Amino acid sequence: MSYPCPICHKRFEPSEDVTCGRPKYYPFCSSRCKMIDLGAWLDADYKVVSKVESDAPEISEDGF
Ligand SMILES: [Zn+2]
Repeated sequence: MSYPCPICHKRFEPSEDVTCGRPKYYPFCSSRCKMIDLGAWLDADYKVVSKVESDAPEISEDGF
């Protein structure tokens, strides 16, 4: 049984190095793809945060 990696779309066989009945990097084929996915999420999150910050009005000046 092989699974397609959501990052590189390569079909891979889960390694025998399993914990809790799952492949080590499931659903990714390797630690590299796992880190790419994590980096993509962090990068997207950072972009959203920076966009909100730049669009947010200065409320501190109104408060005081
Ligand atoms: Zn992969």
